[in-house]
Amino acid sequence: MRSPHVNQEIVMTTVFGKLDHVLLMAPGPSPVAPNVLEAMSLPTLGHLDPDCIKVMDALQDQLRAVCKTRNAVTFPISGTGSAGMEACFVNLVEPGDPVLIVNNGLFCSRMVEVASRLGALVDTVDCPWGVPISVEAVKKQLKQKKYKILAVVHAETSTGVNNPVGELGALVKNSDTLFLVDSVAGLGGVDVRVDEWGIDAFYSGSQKCLSTPPGLAPASFSEAAMEAMAQRKTKVPNWYLDVSLIRKYWEGTPRTYHHTAPINMYYGLHQALDNLLAEGLEASFTRHQAMHERLKLGMGKLGFKPYVTEGAAPQVNLFVPPDGVDANALRARLRSEHKIEVAGGLGALAGKVLRVGVMGEGAREKAIDSLVTAVAACL
Ligand SMILES: *Cc1c(COP(=O)(O)O)cnc(C)c1O
Repeated sequence: MRSPHVNQEIVMTTVFGKLDHVLLMAPGPSPVAPNVLEAMSLPTLGHLDPDCIKVMDALQDQLRAVCKTRNAVTFPISGTGSAGMEACFVNLVEPGDPVLIVNNGLFCSRMVEVASRLGALVDTVDCPWGVPISVEAVKKQLKQKKYKILAVVHAETSTGVNNPVGELGALVKNSDTLFLVDSVAGLGGVDVRVDEWGIDAFYSGSQKCLSTPPGLAPASFSEAAMEAMAQRKTKVPNWYLDVSLIRKYWEGTPRTYHHTAPINMYYGLHQALDNLLAEGLEASFTRHQAMHERLKLGMGKLGFKPYVTEGAAPQVNLFVPPDGVDANALRARLRSEHKIEVAGGLGALAGKVLRVGVMGEGAREKAIDSLVTAVAACL
């Protein structure tokens, strides 16, 4: 019996017949390589199948290489980047814990929300949107008060700034303060050094510079972070994201089922990380930088000005349109007439800028040139 609430005809044509092939040039999701999509269509395996475990082991090794870490506890959380954020905070925060969050964009504000809901006593160092965080301001605040966690967003996708994570990490290295970093929009496109930068809790997302569909949040936890979890007085208030439980599924023999592995997502990420490591991390960073320059040049000729002048993230580009060009109208035309997706401004920047991703498979000459040509045609 068909459900009376589902119009079967519409479902079938939209799902199987009429989907546009859109060039994804927003800061996520990014284009997915054909071999990643192919990998994802391989046969689904059971969650304790020996081959499934092999894929999981391989994924952990690949992620350690990409994150530049030796952390034993390194695996993708099931869920998007936000699940990674939630996992880091929910495992480390207990009610009343002092947490310092550096705030210069929308995703930093989301950290404040997540930590506050867990009962953390949150202080912020507020820095203006569009410029990198002031390391001095953070240093000053850390001298005033002892914090359990210092949290920062590496690549602020709302503003197009890469924050100086290495310098901030140095402020709390070898101290009792844990360093928590969001590099959802950075990992794979720009350098991330989990160990060298003293990062204790780290998360990213599959659909940005890693060019995998949305659904996984690579994460890594240092020994200090694991020790802090072991010292908790209260249980982690979220069973699904409790790292002490999930880890038993990712290591040891036998593996202990926690939740069913999203195995086809693992295939996809495994292939995407293989693509990335075969190219080489440094080569990928160089390519992202070169494609960022190419985009800036092309858009500059059309009168678009970069919103960020200092600390610009190559992988997230904000452009202020020339006078008389409406950012949202342009976005709509790019999608309808050229099948290209770019993003609009967030928060105070809504309607004022275009946000263009130069991420993973989107950081290619053909993609950049298609976008610039389409923008020129729309003007
Ligand atoms: C995209 C993004 C997130 C959220 O990730 P989702 O996959 O949308 O849940 C968090 N932080 C940053 C910096 C991001 O760019």
